Amino acid sequence: MRPLKDALPPAGDKVFYVFYDFETSQNTEYADEAKLHVPKLLCVQQFCTRCKDAEHACDCERWGIRRLSFWQEPVGDLLSYLTDQRPWAYKIIARAHNARHSTFTSS
Ligand SMILES: [Zn+2]
Repeated sequence: MRPLKDALPPAGDKVFYVFYDFETSQNTEYADEAKLHVPKLLCVQQFCTRCKDAEHACDCERWGIRRLSFWQEPVGDLLSYLTDQRPWAYKIIARAHNARHSTFTSS
């Protein structure tokens, strides 16, 4: 019996990229003069390795619509969206627009 490899398979062209941006309300004060940022809208733009150079108006041939919006439960919707089953994707890279230290990578 061969031991299991402690390595992920090469991603090749099976990478799914997601760029997201939360729009928030800032009407609630919570500390001194700080305002609470409450997510109200999530905008997502996605592409895979195959369509990364295509026009933005074109849909992804693997996953369909390239631009999506979520407003019911934006944070939960993002997590659900990122964990959807995509059998063709070996790696998912998600990066927030204008955020620091919030890039998720999943294989
Ligand atoms: Zn694609």
